[in-house]
Amino acid sequence: MITVTLNEDSYAYDIHSLVKAFYPEQEVKVFVEGEKDLAGDPGLPAFFVHFYPDRICAGLCREEPGQGSGKQEAQRVSREEGQWLCKLTAPGDRVQTKNDLKQLLYGILGQCTNKRLPWGTLTGIRPVKIAMQLLEQGKTEEEILEHMRRVYLTSGQKAALSAEIAKKERKILSGIHCGNGYSLYIGIPFCPTTCLYCSFTSFPICVWKDRVGEYLDALDKEMDFVKEIYGGKTLDSVYIGGGTPTTLDARQLERLLDKVRRTFDLDGALEFTVEAGRADSITADKLEVMKRYGVGRISVNPQTMNQRTLEVIGRQHTVEQVEQAFYMARGAGFDNINMDLILGLPGENESDVAYTMERIRRLAPDNLTVHSLAVKRASRLSQWILENGLSQMHNTDRTMEIAEQSARALGMAPYYLYRQKNMSGNFENVGYAKEGKEGIYNILIMEEKQTIVACGAGSISKKVYSDGRIERCENVKDVSQYIERIGEMIERKRVLLKD
Ligand code: SF4
Repeated sequence: MITVTLNEDSYAYDIHSLVKAFYPEQEVKVFVEGEKDLAGDPGLPAFFVHFYPDRICAGLCREEPGQGSGKQEAQRVSREEGQWLCKLTAPGDRVQTKNDLKQLLYGILGQCTNKRLPWGTLTGIRPVKIAMQLLEQGKTEEEILEHMRRVYLTSGQKAALSAEIAKKERKILSGIHCGNGYSLYIGIPFCPTTCLYCSFTSFPICVWKDRVGEYLDALDKEMDFVKEIYGGKTLDSVYIGGGTPTTLDARQLERLLDKVRRTFDLDGALEFTVEAGRADSITADKLEVMKRYGVGRISVNPQTMNQRTLEVIGRQHTVEQVEQAFYMARGAGFDNINMDLILGLPGENESDVAYTMERIRRLAPDNLTVHSLAVKRASRLSQWILENGLSQMHNTDRTMEIAEQSARALGMAPYYLYRQKNMSGNFENVGYAKEGKEGIYNILIMEEKQTIVACGAGSISKKVYSDGRIERCENVKDVSQYIERIGEMIERKRVLLKD
């Protein structure tokens, strides 16, 4: 365990996130001195951070913390005898102080680990929001790059990626009804089997198959309520995700899509997506139903095109099934197909990623969403790592580059990006798309410019106010509870969405 001792309870979450980014495989504890008595691992560094009205002092605990000399005070950041000092840019300003603190810590952690992080001091999940805000303030691309490098120590490449995506998102979002519009998410929390890395609301369909009808009944009630309260607003996009929506059989899928069509006015909607997802759930009759009900965008998600890895991650479908499902979807007339991939999967190296990209190139999808594997505590992967070690999983600059070059060679450009905690290699997830095939719902989820009403077990609705404030309400994850307490789920939504 790595410990960080503070002299006051300030910025503990930010400190924890940054230390964890440098030491992803270690447990990190941040605490105020005197409150707890935690001993770190003797083989690992123990840090201290001391806040003063005009400066922050930090370093390794084995060095004595001091007040700093006058000479040090003259500079904003300086280092002497194992401790680092940062003179505050704007004492009393929380945002500036946080940036000063993170720059200071970044220097110390970088020196201890000999690492540089591609995203610098940024540890949040939406780094593109920073570039977007600067764009909205009228900053030029050069100014955005300079700001991200100087304030957050972001690499030039990641700063450029953020700026490119922000420009694309801004153009796409100009067609969205932010104030008087909304998007709809519908969750189907069933999957054929549970993937090793899964942390979503997902349950094996074999266990729940006899209650799918009841689940759809509950969804009908929730959708009726959304129409009742939001009938006067413009519906911009619909996303049916999960889980795997195509675990429903063709009749159940038709029932769901028919309900969506009869309940909402989709004529003006910019996007109607079904995340078909698992190849082992996609059939010709389901594709025909989706096409007939106007679904425009679907996902066929391989994650990898290496059979050996598919088995390790518990997908229980073959590479050939992925290709068959893809060609079947093309044959059914889908001209906007996304494929999800994951980099950093157990046992995969750069040549495995190159092999996956080569097989993807032959399929020529319209969107590619490239994820860096994230290890979630709730997933079976955490246990797998305990048994097999972390050493078999690495994502590198090179694999990220292979994926990006392949996507660009397919005529795609990056259009949305997000980060997660505990990501392999501290990288990011990037959505690439051909011009005009971008997943609008994906952008809306990241940029938080529009209210998203979510139906189904485990789904989270998000109300975005005109001043940028955001409020959320959650549905219960448990399918039985969701069915039994649907009235309560609707009342939660009523409270959130009123006015
Ligand atoms: S397909 Fe997605 S939701 Fe289903 S188990 Fe795998 S990761 Fe989880």
